[in-house]
Amino acid sequence: MAPILGCIADDFTGATDLANMLVRGGMRTVQLIGVPATDTPVPDVDAVVVALKSRTNPADEAVAQSLQSLQWLKAAGCRQFFFKYCSTFDSTDDGNIGPVADALMADLGTTVTIACPAFPENGRTIFNGHLFVGTQLLSDSPMRNHPLTPMTDSNLVSVLQRQTKKPVKLIQFATVDAGGEAVAAELAALKAAGGGIAIVDAVLDKHLESIGYGVKDLPLITGGSGIAIGLPGNYRRAGLLAERGAAGALPQVRGSAAVLAGSCSAATLGQIARFEAGHPSFAVDALRLARGEDVVAEALGWAAGRIADGPVLIYASQPAEKVREIQKALGRAEAGALIEEAMAAIARGLVASGTRRLVVAGGETSGAVVSALGIEGLQIGPQIDPGVPATVSLGGEPLALALKSGNFGGPDFFAKALASMP
Ligand code: ADP
Repeated sequence: MAPILGCIADDFTGATDLANMLVRGGMRTVQLIGVPATDTPVPDVDAVVVALKSRTNPADEAVAQSLQSLQWLKAAGCRQFFFKYCSTFDSTDDGNIGPVADALMADLGTTVTIACPAFPENGRTIFNGHLFVGTQLLSDSPMRNHPLTPMTDSNLVSVLQRQTKKPVKLIQFATVDAGGEAVAAELAALKAAGGGIAIVDAVLDKHLESIGYGVKDLPLITGGSGIAIGLPGNYRRAGLLAERGAAGALPQVRGSAAVLAGSCSAATLGQIARFEAGHPSFAVDALRLARGEDVVAEALGWAAGRIADGPVLIYASQPAEKVREIQKALGRAEAGALIEEAMAAIARGLVASGTRRLVVAGGETSGAVVSALGIEGLQIGPQIDPGVPATVSLGGEPLALALKSGNFGGPDFFAKALASMP
């Protein structure tokens, strides 16, 4: 059977987050990395999530990549499509949420969609079109200072209207609270009135169920991963999706295990401290890398003598003051790139000598590792911690991977991830 739902996500960890939600909802899901090649085989799953890295690209590039991904998903036989972006609506007045949504709608020949980044369980709620992060308006939250997509307007109707020529409307709390039929009726009215994009209020998790029901006949849905909560029920009611206990079943992968950390977030630093207490660890020194010392070979030699006895940890992560020193010496971007390259080379070396299970901490670091290993897709398994599933790579020699963005996961994440790898 062809996949039911085809998703396009504007960044890597966001794609994984969505895939994780779909698996939790009982849909067997695969994540493909980058625009799929025309000859990429269609996996036997219920949902495919294409992970792009298009959030902050120029709008025309984001549109082109999204449309190419859509062509593949359409050819794969998907029946409904989902454009996934961040739950804080990360975008600028130049895009990319509006332009990508417009292009996908035009291609699919549809005049109506929703835009709903809400995820109440994670503190993202929308009321009267205004997005809240916890108890703060989006424009009062730390997102106002984001280096690439500063969000200084919480009114999503206005934000999106600046990105699209289509009318942007609001489906208010009272409608959503009245249930899925009321949402569907309002979307039908919007279509009859000539179409547009509807920002949808959502304050409680049950509202995501109503919205999910309300969008059952839309060819395209846009939003955050929370919206995925309401979709599997539609497919079950339509007889498309089996009741299945283990949508996240993964094949077993045998081989030695390593944790690679390149995130300097507080959560990751805590996870490193916890793991270091019981496992051998190696710190990658950015300044030595910059001096041209072969730290990669050193790390691999160090690991070779230990990894047969149990998982090892290799990390570049440092607390903020140390990172500032390193960035001052090397430059922010240069330090980041140098370390990402080293972590990627270490991952390649480990896999070449038999490591088959990897935990990677850091969004950019995960991207660098996955691309260095030439991984084109991931089968999504059970959730390890919120937003982070266990995965196994597709094609070639299978690798078990847990890829987390810096701030995700509890203090015990590394041990928990290794234990959850089949
Ligand atoms: P997160 O998910 O926490 O943002 P990322 O991996 O996306 O983590 O980003 C962390 C960035 O910091 C990467 O580019 C990484 O190479 C860089 N980095 C890691 N360790 C250091 C360090 N000691 N000094 C400077 N930069 C570092």
